[in-house]
Amino acid sequence: MLTGRLHSIETLGSLDGPGLRTVFFMQGCNMRCLYCHNRDSWEVAGGKVCSSGALVEAALSYREYYGEKGGVTFSGGEPLLQADFLIEAVRELKRLGIHTALDTSGSVYSEKSRELFRLADLVMLDIKHSDKARYPELCGFPGGNAFSNLRYLQLQGLKYWIRQVIVEGYTDSEEQADGLARLLAARNPPEKTELLPYHDMGLSKWTASGSRYPLGGIKPPPAERMELLRNRLRGLST
Ligand code: SF4
Repeated sequence: MLTGRLHSIETLGSLDGPGLRTVFFMQGCNMRCLYCHNRDSWEVAGGKVCSSGALVEAALSYREYYGEKGGVTFSGGEPLLQADFLIEAVRELKRLGIHTALDTSGSVYSEKSRELFRLADLVMLDIKHSDKARYPELCGFPGGNAFSNLRYLQLQGLKYWIRQVIVEGYTDSEEQADGLARLLAARNPPEKTELLPYHDMGLSKWTASGSRYPLGGIKPPPAERMELLRNRLRGLST
């Protein structure tokens, strides 16, 4: 049985996929997003070691709350960094009839990550910026793998949602939203696209790690701007 590294577990989560879910936050991330709300999940050697059996057992103990829609979500950190471990866990959860979702930045593009995508019932992919060239300044990592993963989900006809954090000066322009709309205009479009307003709730974790919070002073985008961008994405605005 394989082991993985776990940052934390959230029970009865309602924000990371359909229905009520157990969310396993995996330890380790290769991105360095300026707005990261889980700054303490970056170190790949950190977290707690857990076997896939123990993880499945933990997921099963909340089974009665999942109902028809709910289930288990793997978030992070970056779950794709532990693809082997999660392939084993997801296979077992599926065998037990539990819905599985991956919440990922798509920063790994490999045979194993693609296998995990095919196994999971839903992939929630972050597209950090619709301009690949602007990835490094926003998340300290190239955007090529995320774009390849998006293409893969589209070409394979897999079920996926897209998420993007809207940050003033980075992703809050109409041009950026139009670029995202173009990326998503495929034969297999996302089932859902969520634009999420930036918040600084992760700030305390940056302070605790002794790091300066890079977006200090940046405010959440106004509701009107979020509405404009959402309309733009839906093609309702000119
Ligand atoms: S991908 Fe997620 S966990 Fe990784 S740095 Fe970005 S926000 Fe943080």
